[in-house]
Amino acid sequence: MQAILDELNEAQREAVEEVRRPVLILAGAGSGKTKTITSRLAYLIGEVGVDPASTLTLTFTNKAATQMRERAMEMLSRTQTSLVYPPLLCTFHKFGLLFLKFHMDKLGRRNSFVVIDTDDKKRILKNFGSELPVSLVASEISRYKNSLISPSEAWAQAEQKNYKQIAKLFEQYEAYLAQNNLVDFDDLLVLTYRILEENPQLCAQTSERYQYIMIDEYQDTNDLQYRLIRKLCSTHENICVVGDDDQSIYGWRGANIRNILEFAENFTDTKVVKLEKNYRSTNQILAAANELIDHNRGRMGKVLESTKGDGKAIVFLESSDETQEARTIATKIRELIDGGVNPKEIAVLYRINALSRSLEEGLNREGVSYKMVGGVKFYERAEIKDLISYLRLVANPHDDFSLRRIINRPKRGLGKVTVDKLLGGAHEARMSMYDYISKYALESVSSKKAGEALVLFVEQLEKLREVANGATYEIIDALEETFGVKKYYSELPDALERVSNIDEFYGLFRDQIKQNPDLSVDDFLNELALQSDQDQIDTESIMIMSVHASKGLEFDHVFVMGMEEGFFPLVGDGSDIEEERRLGYVAITRAGKELTLSYSGSRFYKGRRTELSKSRFLKESGVCEGSLVLEKTTSFKKGDLVKHKIFGMGRIVEISKVGREFKLKINFGGSKRDILASFVEKI
Ligand code: ATP
Ligand code: MG
Repeated sequence: MQAILDELNEAQREAVEEVRRPVLILAGAGSGKTKTITSRLAYLIGEVGVDPASTLTLTFTNKAATQMRERAMEMLSRTQTSLVYPPLLCTFHKFGLLFLKFHMDKLGRRNSFVVIDTDDKKRILKNFGSELPVSLVASEISRYKNSLISPSEAWAQAEQKNYKQIAKLFEQYEAYLAQNNLVDFDDLLVLTYRILEENPQLCAQTSERYQYIMIDEYQDTNDLQYRLIRKLCSTHENICVVGDDDQSIYGWRGANIRNILEFAENFTDTKVVKLEKNYRSTNQILAAANELIDHNRGRMGKVLESTKGDGKAIVFLESSDETQEARTIATKIRELIDGGVNPKEIAVLYRINALSRSLEEGLNREGVSYKMVGGVKFYERAEIKDLISYLRLVANPHDDFSLRRIINRPKRGLGKVTVDKLLGGAHEARMSMYDYISKYALESVSSKKAGEALVLFVEQLEKLREVANGATYEIIDALEETFGVKKYYSELPDALERVSNIDEFYGLFRDQIKQNPDLSVDDFLNELALQSDQDQIDTESIMIMSVHASKGLEFDHVFVMGMEEGFFPLVGDGSDIEEERRLGYVAITRAGKELTLSYSGSRFYKGRRTELSKSRFLKESGVCEGSLVLEKTTSFKKGDLVKHKIFGMGRIVEISKVGREFKLKINFGGSKRDILASFVEKI
């Protein structure tokens, strides 16, 4: 065990060894907060002898949970401890899922519920046919739920007509979820809280079960999470939380910074630990981060010193447009990899997902393989959602929502008119659509052909359900054989990509069953719903992601794109400059050795090209002046084949700079000409 404590500095060790009262570690980026609670978990189990099952460690992303689990296990393997079961270390939402799996019946609902994601939620809301923008309705409902406001309370509070309408939709939505036994992300916490609140005895049992609670990134907890934590701590206050007020970036989602600032008042006899050394970033990177965040008011204020030496100067890249920006970043990344840098030590971050498209093009051109975190997620692609819907129906045929999605996919002659008719009929008969179709397929629709298609559809689904009841692993072949989803997509546009997605999904499913032969379709689906895309990270590729998704991660080489006013900081409706600055702080502090900040003079965005000025954050972090490396970029290289409007194709033989532009010497079939870079196109 000593080995674990030896890796820590004194303050970190103090926090690890304090196991009898609440502990708050409030410290800046890269100071070892996550390392400290990971060590504390290992210490509790390996040294104090705490039963792993009495610990609960909560994080915000699956990636963080996985990483922490691996590290804790590695630490434990160095001690004599033999583990009976691994400690529970997961996201808040996963904890909610596990809890509801056992206790949903306390709300009079079956424990075999299905978890839906944001996209599902929007589709449900869309089907209610309101004129209001569906994303507004979805986010308002989420806000209500997280504040534990019921639909009738929302109605009573609403002053404007729109909000009355949202409250009505909220009511309709909740009824729909209950009817179909669906659970959305917010419910994972809301319902868990409700059950604990309504069942004091269960609450006390649960709290006694988890004797030691640890929470990472505590600055981003919201009111509901706080209340849940209080329930979990109702019989003890053995809680250790870590966080950084300067990294609070979920204000827009209801995170309440007061949770961390008032922790010591909320929990009795709290030990407060400060960590003041940064073990991640070089001095230059840290100085830029500190200087930037110093422009915020109302901070706790913290000391943070680098232990990594001065390091390299921050690079400032200036490009004329997003294409050039992407090409330059891609070329630089290629050089790093060719120079022996491990791709997983490289990341490109952006403030908004829309910037990823140009970047992806650049990376593809340069042949740099990357994993994207966020954006159009794998599980949100149409073909994958179809497969998931089929599997959901196998698990629960009364899931009207999934049934509607695939009833005519692949096409079986059941158009909107027929579906609406079935929907109306089922509603009137107070049956699930599936039951209704099973019973009245032939009578319920006007055409004989449609009726027959329905009969066949039900038969096919029944057959599939039988297969699933026997052996889960046979379901994929049976699904494809019966419904031919892959075949269907192989005849549509983008067939190649879609079919390879389907194959990947089938592969994933088989893989899971190989690992756990007892896995039911139900379990598989619920796990899927919880997978944040951070899980897709693999080791062969560089990573590209939004700043939000990068929280808690670290990379030797970080590129931050889009350092322009309007993009970073994002300005406009509801944006908060101090939260933007904290995002800037998070972005910069992800970097260990080298940081590149990239500015593009213009971007094509929302249908038009816009000229952009440099982000104020460049100045505020001292990057636009001082000892930085200034690089004007060009994506052209000697030897590139280029095309000119008049001279046609030629090859670049020389590149030089003239003022703000680049001059290329190009060999057009034997005659060399000097041409400005902006007048030719790369092939
Ligand atoms: P963030 O605020 O970004 O989440 P953090 O405070 O959680 O950062 P960690 O990720 O735990 O910081 O640690 C940052 C890096 O410093 C990690 O690579 C970690 O292994 C290393 N580190 C932490 N403490 C020490 C220490 N005492 N000695 C050496 N390295 C350390
Ligand atoms: Mg951390």
